[in-house]
Amino acid sequence: RRRLNTEIFGRRIEYFRLTSSTMDEAEYLIEKDENVDGAIVIAEEQTSGRGRQKRKWLSPQGENVYVSLIFKPKGMNVSDSIALMFAISIAIKEALSDFGVEDAKIKWPNDVMVNDKKIAGVLVETKSESGILSHAIIGFGINVNMEHMPDELKDKATSIKIETGIHVDRATLLSNILFYFENLIKMLDRDGKKAIFDLWRKYNNTLGRKVEVLSDKENFSGFAKDIDENGFLLVDIGGNIKKVITAESVRFV
Ligand code: ATP
Repeated sequence: RRRLNTEIFGRRIEYFRLTSSTMDEAEYLIEKDENVDGAIVIAEEQTSGRGRQKRKWLSPQGENVYVSLIFKPKGMNVSDSIALMFAISIAIKEALSDFGVEDAKIKWPNDVMVNDKKIAGVLVETKSESGILSHAIIGFGINVNMEHMPDELKDKATSIKIETGIHVDRATLLSNILFYFENLIKMLDRDGKKAIFDLWRKYNNTLGRKVEVLSDKENFSGFAKDIDENGFLLVDIGGNIKKVITAESVRFV
């Protein structure tokens, strides 16, 4: 095990060769144990890895990263949880650069893409009381050393190995992500979410592009203009601005 340069994340490490989902394992840890702030759950393979809206995250064995972090913030409003989502994507983007993936960008709200192919996905699940977060489970899957994408993802996903040809040491990658993420959380504490939102703007691949928005209620397309003070996406449809919340999905057209 390598030395982690963090204060919170990695205080405790739970490792599974195979599990249904690191999100489930993290939930279970929170239920049975009080002392879990900063715990990380790692799996080598997941049978039911999940993305947003119960979508599936393919998680074959193959030296990838499937991780969930438990975070118990002190006095953070629920409305700030989107900043956690942005922060983990930014941390992954920064760590990818350390391994030679220079052109990773963030698709709103939180997928990490290289040339419009997904290299990492993020999922944040939270629990709150009276508008204050009691905990967040921050999950991410990164395609790391996978040499070939499964057929169903061929056109829309990639891995570090495919992009760079280099085999990556996952412990170092994860340790870098945790270090960057912890620093971003400190920045959030100190400077507020605007600082995180500004970094997100710098790294995103969505603003300025034509997008199609898919939700339960309706589908529409327009130009992604900006994010608002809550992190929601503002889409311009012929001069009319529509707000897109994180439960909805965006596709490039
Ligand atoms: P979408 O990418 O479909 O617009 P989304 O942004 O909400 O949806 P998530 O819910 O975070 O994405 O991730 C689930 C989606 O990611 C799946 O529907 C599938 O298209 C894609 N996916 C699943 N497994 C992987 C993987 N290992 N690598 C890259 N993409 C994956």
